[in-house]
Amino acid sequence: MKLLLLAPPGAGKGTQGERLAAWSSVRHIAAGDLLRAEARAGGTLGREIAAYQVRGDLVPDQIVLDVLTPAVTEAAAGGGYILDGFPRNLPQAIAAAELAARLGVTLDAVVYLYAPDAVLTRRLLDRAQQSGRSDDTADVIRHRLRVFAETTGPLVPYYTERGILVAVDADQPPDPVTADIQARLAGLTRAADR
Ligand code: AMP
Repeated sequence: MKLLLLAPPGAGKGTQGERLAAWSSVRHIAAGDLLRAEARAGGTLGREIAAYQVRGDLVPDQIVLDVLTPAVTEAAAGGGYILDGFPRNLPQAIAAAELAARLGVTLDAVVYLYAPDAVLTRRLLDRAQQSGRSDDTADVIRHRLRVFAETTGPLVPYYTERGILVAVDADQPPDPVTADIQARLAGLTRAADR
């Protein structure tokens, strides 16, 4: 299973990514988590990453690729991955396709989780109480939602045109969202078998 999870902040991609990885026995690779770990490790690179994250801006593509490529390469060799939070713009989508081609793997689907901005904002503000994340503040949340709409949003038509987009309503509790994703992916597998 090789899946991408495309979702605005607060749509539940971390939760769903973990569940889908356990369900399909592949590695869950969360771009934001790997970048946060790199930021915590410090050094020049870590400080640079942290500066982008605290503002809610995207980390430069080359840094993201340098951090993610080893994890994706290892996971592909192990049978697949759920890649959550990458790609987040068109150049990254092209780089992701090139990487997949180099590794000799093809994407099965791109799961797009959507929910209204008001729902996402409320969830993120609730999460802010316990997340301890530097980017879970009202101003930065607003900015992250704008970055998603302007920069990541264009990936929805991009993957729709490629016939691999699976759009799921994320304005429901986690269990029905998981069930919807699984039903849609099972449908794809059956269609591919015919
Ligand atoms: P997330 O944990 O997915 O909400 O990501 C948190 C932050 O990490 C984002 O606001 C960006 O600063 C950074 N980030 C995560 N994934 C990417 C990516 N694919 N490209 C650039 N920056 C990213």
